[in-house]
Amino acid sequence: MKRDPQSMHPESLMMSHGYEPSWSEGAIKCPIFQTSTFVFKTAEEGKRFFEVAYGLRTQEPDEKMGLIYSRLNNPDLEILENRLCLWDKAEEAAVFESGMSAITTTLLCYLSPGDILLHSNPLYGGTDHFINHVLTRFGIKVIGFSPNDDCDRIHQIIQEAGAGDKLKMIFIETPANPTNALIDISCCSGIAKHYSTEEKQVLLAVDNTYMGPIWQHPLQHGADLVLYSATKYIGGHSDVIAGACLGSKHVMGPVKTLRTFLGSMAGPWTGWLLMRSLETLKVRMEQQALNAKHVADFLRSHPKIEKVHYLGHLTPEHGRQYEIYKKQYTSAGAMLSFNVIGGEAEAFRFLNALQLAHLAVSLGSTESLVEHPATMTHADVSLELKEEMGITSNLVRLSVGVEHYEDLIADISQALEKI
Ligand SMILES: *Cc1c(COP(=O)(O)O)cnc(C)c1O
Repeated sequence: MKRDPQSMHPESLMMSHGYEPSWSEGAIKCPIFQTSTFVFKTAEEGKRFFEVAYGLRTQEPDEKMGLIYSRLNNPDLEILENRLCLWDKAEEAAVFESGMSAITTTLLCYLSPGDILLHSNPLYGGTDHFINHVLTRFGIKVIGFSPNDDCDRIHQIIQEAGAGDKLKMIFIETPANPTNALIDISCCSGIAKHYSTEEKQVLLAVDNTYMGPIWQHPLQHGADLVLYSATKYIGGHSDVIAGACLGSKHVMGPVKTLRTFLGSMAGPWTGWLLMRSLETLKVRMEQQALNAKHVADFLRSHPKIEKVHYLGHLTPEHGRQYEIYKKQYTSAGAMLSFNVIGGEAEAFRFLNALQLAHLAVSLGSTESLVEHPATMTHADVSLELKEEMGITSNLVRLSVGVEHYEDLIADISQALEKI
């Protein structure tokens, strides 16, 4: 008798869920199904599989679907998707060849010419570029809001733009990269519901790369879709590019269909790597969060540091930001940023002097990664928006890894001396 997966914690299931050793000569690990196509037992079976895969009819309740072709499905993707669902309590997941392909496929799936997309600022540079320079070419209108805007103000922005009728999707990123500013998911979910009608459901999509899938679960706060760059914490070793999208069966059906036709799915090798990564996801992230707390506390009292942006330092005095933090997160996470005293020259001197932390973009990996948002990840953002968001020339972003925190602090300390 199998135990119900719902009765266990996700971390207990990451080694086995969705896979039977008897499928592969007793192999304890799911092999890499390095194959492009799958053999049908009979022509009738192939016909049945295609009817369901292409949406020509719905799947019967007790009908078992089979494998067809690796652009549509592959065991390494399906088992990985089943495991990813456990963290977010999602019904369905789709894995992609990159975080960007997860995001772009999802946006293209639900937006048509004439629709309006409302999004938070700042967004990941790639997402920002796609929304403002690609979607707009197809007649999709875009409206932004900032983490400083409360729920009433967001309603007002929609009203002032006369956007209520055409609003089709809300896309947010929280905590915002690189400043850790927070956006209220349930407020955005309320707005999406407010502007939904019988003909048109306004969907809320949340890029949860910074905190997920361990410390924030957007679907539980009313989001319809949750997106990941699996390159970051989920992959966690700086050795694979991948992405994921999760939600209910109802919203994920069209996303999976468009993935089939765009061909933006991940390959079996990527699926296998991510399954291996998921086994240690929680222990990695918990250690990273613990290390981040030590590093943030050290930085806070350092004379060469002007300000530290770390969620664990929020107090009731921070008002709405603190309320959102308490409601939405189970950890302060392992991403922080800080302003060194000075400008770009001082920030660069610090970055160039680090010996243990690596000077590189990306985040969520086992090794600590440090970068300069204003001239690297956010180089493309307008000066005006950079200023509004606090992406200043003295700001440094740090993704804390699994090293011993004493070594990290010693490294940061010696590099700060070089300023
Ligand atoms: C890295 C990242 C992306 C893009 O993901 P890729 O895997 O690089 O395509 C999207 N959103 C956020 C928040 C990211 O950090």
